[in-house]
Amino acid sequence: MSLIVQKFGGSSVADAERVMNVARIVTDTFAKGNDVVVVVSAQGDTTDDLIEKAQEINPNATRREKDMLLAAGEQISISLLAMAIEKLGYHAVSLLGWQAGFETTSSHTSARIKRVDASRIRRELDKKNIVVVAGFQGLSKYGDITTLGRGGSDTSAVAIAASMHADLCQIYTDVEGVYTADPRKVKNAQKLKEISYDEMLELATLGAQVLNNRSVEMAKKYNIELEVLSSMAKASGTIVKEKTKMEKMLISGVAKDTEVARVSVTGIPNLPGLAFKMFSKLSAKDINVDIILQSIGHDGKKDISFTVAKDRGQETVDCLKDYMENLGAAEVLYDDNVAKISIVGAGMESHAGVATKMFEALYDAQINIQMISTSEIKVSVLIDAVDADKAVSAIHAKFFD
Ligand code: ASP
Ligand code: MG
Repeated sequence: MSLIVQKFGGSSVADAERVMNVARIVTDTFAKGNDVVVVVSAQGDTTDDLIEKAQEINPNATRREKDMLLAAGEQISISLLAMAIEKLGYHAVSLLGWQAGFETTSSHTSARIKRVDASRIRRELDKKNIVVVAGFQGLSKYGDITTLGRGGSDTSAVAIAASMHADLCQIYTDVEGVYTADPRKVKNAQKLKEISYDEMLELATLGAQVLNNRSVEMAKKYNIELEVLSSMAKASGTIVKEKTKMEKMLISGVAKDTEVARVSVTGIPNLPGLAFKMFSKLSAKDINVDIILQSIGHDGKKDISFTVAKDRGQETVDCLKDYMENLGAAEVLYDDNVAKISIVGAGMESHAGVATKMFEALYDAQINIQMISTSEIKVSVLIDAVDADKAVSAIHAKFFD
C-alpha cells in the first residue's frame, strides 16, 4: 500500500461535472489499495472573483482580512469534492488548512509553510477516509488564517507529501504535462517525459506557469518526485525529479514572462558604491531585481538598467525617484511594455553555441534585444512585449523543428 498525494487545480474542479471527474480519479486510486490525500484549489476563477469583491469594498483592506476572504474559495471546493466522493460510495473527510496541520508564518497573503503536523490527516487515513485538504492556506502562530500567495496549492501538496513521506505526489492540471513551450501558442511544442528540478525551477519562475516555483523548490529540497498530468485526458504526464536519465536535450523549454518591467537610472556618477546604495534601497523594500545591465562609464557618468516584476514597478520607480538626489542620478525611466524570453536546459552547460542559436532566431525574426542575462542552464533576453509570442515561436522552431 502506498501513500499518494494528488493535487487538483482550479480548472480541474471548475464545475459539478469536473468535481465528479476528480472524485472518480481519486476513488480509482483509493480502490487500488492506496491511502489518498487530495489537495484542491478554489474552483475556476473563484480566487480572482473574491479579490474583485474585496476591491469593490475596500482596496486597502488589511492583508489579514484578504486572507480570511481568499481562504473561503478552497473551503467550497474541499466540501464539494468530499460530497462527490461520498456519492461514489467512498468515505471522505474535508479539512481546512489549519485542521490539516498547516503552520505558517504570519506574513498574510504570502505566508510560508513552517511545518505540517499531519497527525489529524493520519488519523483520518487510518479510519479509511480519503482526506481532502484545502490548498493555499494555513494558520499563523497568532491563530489567524493565512494564504500562501497565488498558485500556492501546489506548495501545499508538496508540503504534505514531504511531511508524510508520500510515495508519489501527482499534480493534476489542465495541460498534459510540461512542454517545450506553451502548447496553446506554439504548434510543435512537445511534452517532456522528464525534467530536472533545476530546469523546472527556471521554467516555473520564468513564467511557464505549470507549477508554482515554491512547490518545485520544496520538492527539490525534500526530494519529492512530482508527476504533472491532466485531469481531463488519460495520458502519462511529466516527471519532475533530481536527475533525469533522458539523453540531455540541448534545451528543455522556451518560456515567456510578460509580468516584467524595465527600470533605467541614468547619469549616475561613475564611482564605486552607487550600485550598492541603489540596490540596497530596493532590497530593503523586498523588491527583487532580475536582469541588470550597467553601461560603460563615459564623461564620469554611467547608466544602470534592471528588470523587476511589473506589479512592483511603480513602487520601484517611486523609491528611486525619492533617492535620485542622493545618487546624483539624472533620470529614472520606466517601461513595462517588455517581455522576458528564456531558454532553459541542462544541456547548455556542456554545449557551445546555444545562446548564439537563440540570438540567430531573434535576428531572423527581426526582433531587437534590449538586455541579456545568462546562467549555467538559462539564457534570457528582454524584448518588446509585442514581439513576445513571435519570439517564442521563432526560438522554439530553431531548436525543435
Ligand atoms: N486558489 C489559489 C489561487 O488561485 C491557489 C491556487 O490555485 O493554487 O491562486
Ligand atoms: Mg490556481
